[in-house]
Amino acid sequence: MIELDSVSKNFGDTTVLAGVTGQVNRGEIFAVIGPSGAGKSTLLRLIDLLDTPTEGAIRINGLDIHADKGRRLSIRRMMGMVFQKPAVFNTTVTENVAVGLRFRGAGRSEIRKMVEDALDMVGLAGYGDRKARTLSGGEMQRVALARAMVIEPEVLLMDEPTANLDPVSVEMIEELVIRINRDLGTTILFSTHDMYQGQRLAHRIGVLMDGTFAQVGTPREVFTLPASRNVARFVGIGNVVDGVVVAAEDGMSAVNIGSARIRARSSFSRGERVSLCIRSEDIRIAPAIRGRRVFDGNILPGTVTSVVPRGPFSRVTVDCGFPLSSVLSWKAVEDLDLREGSQVTASFTAASVHVVRRE
Ligand code: ADP
Repeated sequence: MIELDSVSKNFGDTTVLAGVTGQVNRGEIFAVIGPSGAGKSTLLRLIDLLDTPTEGAIRINGLDIHADKGRRLSIRRMMGMVFQKPAVFNTTVTENVAVGLRFRGAGRSEIRKMVEDALDMVGLAGYGDRKARTLSGGEMQRVALARAMVIEPEVLLMDEPTANLDPVSVEMIEELVIRINRDLGTTILFSTHDMYQGQRLAHRIGVLMDGTFAQVGTPREVFTLPASRNVARFVGIGNVVDGVVVAAEDGMSAVNIGSARIRARSSFSRGERVSLCIRSEDIRIAPAIRGRRVFDGNILPGTVTSVVPRGPFSRVTVDCGFPLSSVLSWKAVEDLDLREGSQVTASFTAASVHVVRRE
């Protein structure tokens, strides 16, 4: 439905997008995630016709949206956009939502009915006569969503729609996004720097880094099988360590990291330089008991170098010849009596090691 074909964008000498290629399918919720400044807003603005690509093409239903100026209006009518900061006019909520309909020359009673329906959808029934500027940030963003949806767009674009909102409003907007997609079949493309929001809402995720999609995949693929070291870091994989494959057989590799040797499931060959991605959640910490083995896995002796509280968990870092971090509940830390200097073993299975080629 939306095709990004080698889309590039320069601002002066600065290249922000350097050949973004990908596709958003009809009826899909697609999240563009990436660090701040990666070019997420720029990409959405290009799709929303607020700016033009330096090179490449964006096609919607096969139509190059920047090529034919005569079609601009009909293309714009297919799309609703919600910005990070809700742009509300200093009039009533009804007037704010009705803007797009007036441009289309809809009749007065038709407008009233459509606005009421849209406000109802976003949970703001009865708010029509209020001054939009007196609303809370979360309510204003819902007005912006109603304004985008009242024109019944095929595509809803949202640029970091919850970046400035409190957690309750974030949850409300997220529920609305899911409902709009499910009930109306609207194709939704949104950007976020919050990878967990991408995970919660999206059918597929594009990770925008260094001007291109470093990876496009389902949340599960992106979060458990990151395509590169940088993606792994961005999606919060606690351990990304570099090594060299020293033995490989039957989809199993041995990788040397300094003095330690790690077993991992991978099809890389001997001599290849790789990075190992191991989620902290997959690493178990146990007292240093001799002779204990983990089937088909890795068991590394080490010394605890830090125990740092992190919300309901603690991050425990162990020096196994290289630093390896794990997350444990506070209770587990107490039960194991973990502190700086404790002798422990860190263990994890070969299957929990995801191997990527070193860049
Ligand atoms: P993100 O949304 O991922 O945070 P943006 O698309 O807002 O990233 O910005 C990407 C980069 O492009 C930033 O370095 C920003 O300063 C730059 N940029 C965005 N718009 C313009 C512009 N109109 N002129 C010059 N630089 C811009």
